[in-house]
Amino acid sequence: MSLEGKIAVVTGASRGIGRAVALRLGAMGARVMVNYVSRPEAAREVAEEIRASGGWAEICAFNVADSGVTEAAFKKILDDHGRIDILVNNAGITRDGLLVKMKDAQWDEVLATNLKGAFTCTKAVSRAMMKQRWGRIVNISSVIGFAGNAGQANYAAAKAGLVGLTRSVARELAPRNITVNGVAPGYIVTDMTRDLPEEINEKIRGEIPLGVLGEAEDVAGAVAYLVSEDARYVTGQFIHVNGGMYMG
Ligand code: NAP
Repeated sequence: MSLEGKIAVVTGASRGIGRAVALRLGAMGARVMVNYVSRPEAAREVAEEIRASGGWAEICAFNVADSGVTEAAFKKILDDHGRIDILVNNAGITRDGLLVKMKDAQWDEVLATNLKGAFTCTKAVSRAMMKQRWGRIVNISSVIGFAGNAGQANYAAAKAGLVGLTRSVARELAPRNITVNGVAPGYIVTDMTRDLPEEINEKIRGEIPLGVLGEAEDVAGAVAYLVSEDARYVTGQFIHVNGGMYMG
């Protein structure tokens, strides 16, 4: 599954799932743009790790929730490299709270990053991919977007929104040989979930038929498949990487 010669942009690639995806795509031969928003040193480490294994990587800072900055960043990538072949919309945040107590700011921040961010990045690469007549877009949703979760109405709405975005854009871009798919991870050990109290982790494990929390590499494996030639006839689909906790 070689991605030799392909340019890949992975948003939120400095840590967690995005980091694992960037490393995997780098190992497959893609030239990887490692996006981050606040931690340049973490992004630099990811890029260095890709280079140390013989790959190619650059870091690029932009806040996906800021459409002006994001559009300018994609324009620069296109000016510098002439193409973008793969986009992984992974950047995401949580601002949890019960609906009755949820502030507008909690709702707005989560929707702006997790849903509008993916819209902005997708729009920014679409024209170039259409001209190339080849492209792969993968949106990282969540089991929460399919099953819902008390205390995460904002996050669930954003992640469910990504499902509609994925399927609509998949239909729009299919005639130009661009596939648009998603991965819906379950509970994956990253900074986002690391600090959950042990009793919550225990409860979650009890709801997972495979009995363990997932690793970022489990999600990276699904992304690797979706961007490969093996998945050329797959579009508008979601792969659930969740140990069986939700069977969609
Ligand atoms: P994480 O460890 O908290 O890492 C988040 C990443 O996103 C970091 O690289 C961060 O950059 C970046 N980021 C945050 N806001 C951004 C913004 N506005 N613009 C650009 N980059 C931004 O999260 P994770 O657990 O790996 O989650 C990655 C994705 O998977 C998210 O979309 C999340 O919703 C989804 N997901 C996670 C789980 C899970 O169990 N962990 C389950 C289902 C879905 P900095 O390092 O610069 O802050």
